[in-house]
Amino acid sequence: MNLLVYYFKMMHKVLLLVYRWQKYLFFFIHQLYNIINLLKNKISVLAIESSCDDTSAAIITDGVVISNRTATQIVHQQYGGVVPELASRQHLIHIIPVIDAAIKDAGMDLQNIDAIAFTRGPGLLGSLIVGVSMAKSLALSMDIPLIAVHHMHAHVLAHFAEEPKPSFPFLCLTVSGGHTQIVLVNDYTDMKVLGSTIDDAAGEAFDKTGKMLGLDYPAGPIIDKLAKAGKPVFHFPEPQVAGLNFSFSGLKTSILYFLQKAVAENPNFIQENLNDICCSVQSSIVHILLKKLKKASEITGIKEIGIAGGVSANSYLRQSFDEEGKKHGWNTYIPAFEYCTDNAGMIAVAGYYKFLNGEFCDQNVTPLARMEF
Ligand code: ADP
Ligand code: MG
Repeated sequence: MNLLVYYFKMMHKVLLLVYRWQKYLFFFIHQLYNIINLLKNKISVLAIESSCDDTSAAIITDGVVISNRTATQIVHQQYGGVVPELASRQHLIHIIPVIDAAIKDAGMDLQNIDAIAFTRGPGLLGSLIVGVSMAKSLALSMDIPLIAVHHMHAHVLAHFAEEPKPSFPFLCLTVSGGHTQIVLVNDYTDMKVLGSTIDDAAGEAFDKTGKMLGLDYPAGPIIDKLAKAGKPVFHFPEPQVAGLNFSFSGLKTSILYFLQKAVAENPNFIQENLNDICCSVQSSIVHILLKKLKKASEITGIKEIGIAGGVSANSYLRQSFDEEGKKHGWNTYIPAFEYCTDNAGMIAVAGYYKFLNGEFCDQNVTPLARMEF
């Protein structure tokens, strides 16, 4: 009887200890799990991206992206923008071949994968559903963990897909077709938005201007090319927005009014001045972006600065960003082109660091069209 009492007393003490130290115990067990995994073999994560009109799959092994395959949907070009219903149908067609290609490029087979990362949001719901369902099915059938990734976190983490990598803390200007924001990045999983657009995104400003000029979608790369043979001779009013936020809808309207007036006077105005119009619009957009980025650096005192997202492929932005950097003593970072537009390589980087942190999700996870940063 005495022995039984002693046993229960001991158990009580052990449980109390476990309860009191559970935070550290879980951390310790998790780190032990990581170390065992590292010793046992390499950690490989398969990542899937399907938030908009690119179907992409990538594999990261021990923090190095070893394959990154993307199928871009050209079906939208004739409509001047992404048609959500068509996008999700295209994802269905592309997703298996793209995953297959990423695994083959990596010289692996599915058995080597330790976890599946996927874009949970934000994005088009119909598009996200395809990637999320694929990720969940794979994880379930292989009995491996699932990792949900925020698309915009991943755009920032594209800086870690290849060398040179920024050191923490750094500022990231993320400019894409759907987003424009300045992010303070403290760590792989700790980031804060300092400013964002209150209306249109920078990529939208390029694409909508392109539509007014009769250019194909997406117009960003076309404007970039045409601007090279032009001069910034036309001037548009600069938006006055408080703090580190952006606005591009006023610029869009002033471009529209400017074109309407000019075409009324000369019906061939656009054809005759296409290069100069493109160069002027591009220079206005880049000026707005860099002015706020400079302000963010002044406020935070951070000189470690990167740009990311589809618009960071813009040659004038890249050149001006480097020039600003030299002027202000910044260390500047721009990911390689394949990691700028939507791609699974960046999802893989985000997924890998979440894996190391033990941030997994369960099979009940759903895609989110809007997702808090
Ligand atoms: P999202 O994820 O929001 O769909 P992406 O990151 O895929 O956006 O980027 C697509 C956007 O980038 C489009 O708006 C496109 O016009 C723009 N873009 C791509 N290349 C360039 C370029 N060279 N110059 C300007 N904009 C560009
Ligand atoms: Mg994107």
